[in-house]
Amino acid sequence: MSIVRLTPAFKDYIWGGTRLRDDFGKQCDLEKIAESWELSCHKDGSSVVSTGEYAGLTLAEYIEKKGRDILGENCRKFENFPILIKLIDAKDNLSVQVHPDNEYALRVEGEYGKTEMWYVVDCDEGAQLLYGFTKEISKEEFAARIADNTLLEVTNSVPVKKGDVFFIRSGTLHAIGKGILIAEIQQNSNTTYRIYDYGRVGKDGKPRELHVEKAKEVTSLKPAQPYPESPAVSKDGYTEKLLSSCEYFTTYALEVDGKAVLAADKSSFVSLLILDGEGAVRGDDTVDFKKGDSIFIDAGTGEFTVDGKCSLVLTRIEEV
Ligand code: ZN
Repeated sequence: MSIVRLTPAFKDYIWGGTRLRDDFGKQCDLEKIAESWELSCHKDGSSVVSTGEYAGLTLAEYIEKKGRDILGENCRKFENFPILIKLIDAKDNLSVQVHPDNEYALRVEGEYGKTEMWYVVDCDEGAQLLYGFTKEISKEEFAARIADNTLLEVTNSVPVKKGDVFFIRSGTLHAIGKGILIAEIQQNSNTTYRIYDYGRVGKDGKPRELHVEKAKEVTSLKPAQPYPESPAVSKDGYTEKLLSSCEYFTTYALEVDGKAVLAADKSSFVSLLILDGEGAVRGDDTVDFKKGDSIFIDAGTGEFTVDGKCSLVLTRIEEV
């Protein structure tokens, strides 16, 4: 069983900044880096193994070569690789958007829907994001407000701070606001229905496509509820805080100072995304890491340690 470091795929969407290169050490020639896809088997951008004997394979090829057992028993119910993990640097506002649920997305788009979670890694003073509606609205009001450009009068703007968690179940209207850098853990999907784009134009000088009719079919018109916060738990050499748990992914924030003894049992692979600090993961393999690195650990690896001083998010697929 292996422990490998991954190299991401990059996206230069119009709202992106340069912090993933300047602050997170990402090596990429794109002028803007909006997103780095740190754990991805998606056809639109795959992570690549960069250490060990499998270096050079895409994550999908690596799983193919080693067999699906390295994903763990809890992944058997998923036909495809279940999740996608990104770093997102929003220098400008993202479009107001919504993602469909599995039933709709599989029927209409031929891929999974998208439930996602945001963990605020860093943000500017006064940064805000958009999360659902302030009150329940009717289908007619939703349609009318899209048509006359007054949707933002009924959407919920939330001030953010470092460490905040937002759980965005499919169907929830949302937009990351400017000046926010997040780690996003999501279902493995690239289906987004854009409703409002602040009148911007894309790289070709034309307005980016909107998907209003589909958005009307999938958007939940009730206010989104804040996700309950879990306490940080002190363990030997680290603290652990549950960020969110759902049928698709369970994510924890860890602060390691010294040595954390962790495990990847047969139930699930483990993904580590390093948000600050440096150190090494030691088990069947030893993989050094620094801020911004993404590490994949096969299910069944058993005990491994994280040595160093670092902040990271750990994601696995758990039965909930
Ligand atoms: Zn989204």
